[in-house]
Amino acid sequence: MGHHPPRYAGGPCFVCNKPWPCFERQLASLVEFAGRGSLLVAYMGDWHRLGVEERERRGLPFDPEMELRHLGWLDMVLPAQGERRSGDG
Ligand SMILES: [Zn+2]
Repeated sequence: MGHHPPRYAGGPCFVCNKPWPCFERQLASLVEFAGRGSLLVAYMGDWHRLGVEERERRGLPFDPEMELRHLGWLDMVLPAQGERRSGDG
């Protein structure tokens, strides 16, 4: 680890100061989780949930692009599975 970590969950990248996960971190995650796409989805899902909570705790505005940034690009790492979607929790 240590490649472009977030300053805090839901915050900007510690290294390049872009919204996290930045492009560099997304690339690093693809390498780190190569062949384990569902793990990567769970990992980013956790970060997304933590980020929403942390921003709330800090009184920061809701970031509507956070879900897309954490999870929107992950369909490229998952095998096509038709219409399957998760949503209820
Ligand atoms: Zn970065």
